[in-house]
Amino acid sequence: MDFRDRDAWIPFQSVDNEAMTAIAGEPLTCYCEEEGIECTCPVTCGDEIRMVWEVCEFCDGRGKYVNPNIDRDGISGDEFAEDPEFFRDYTSGCYDIQCKQCKGRRVMPQPADPKIREHINKLQEEHSNDMAEMYAEMAAERRFGC
Ligand SMILES: [Zn+2]
Ligand SMILES: [Zn+2]
Repeated sequence: MDFRDRDAWIPFQSVDNEAMTAIAGEPLTCYCEEEGIECTCPVTCGDEIRMVWEVCEFCDGRGKYVNPNIDRDGISGDEFAEDPEFFRDYTSGCYDIQCKQCKGRRVMPQPADPKIREHINKLQEEHSNDMAEMYAEMAAERRFGC
């Protein structure tokens, strides 16, 4: 999947950009007890955590990217060769849109504690695997005409 099509996954209920704190949100709910395992979660829903500014990973600190509707499937050199005006617009940023994650600020508050960050990354990965599975299932169902 094109990275720009990913949903912004926000694991916080709220982020205070001035105090640089955040309240952990619903995606960080701990299910250890239900699963009968010892809880080692460094953060769970409702906790207040300390944040620091980091370069936005979504746009790589550019604050913007080319609208995925323009080049989601890639653009070949031939297409540019046939339409030099399109090439000029494309390279001069005419099709850029604001990064939906950092809203063009190029930086994002991230948890200061690396343990918390690791935990969040793990949950996010699980979440995107689930989503990828769901999309694959939906695509398969469409193929079979359900
Ligand atoms: Zn836990
Ligand atoms: Zn960004």
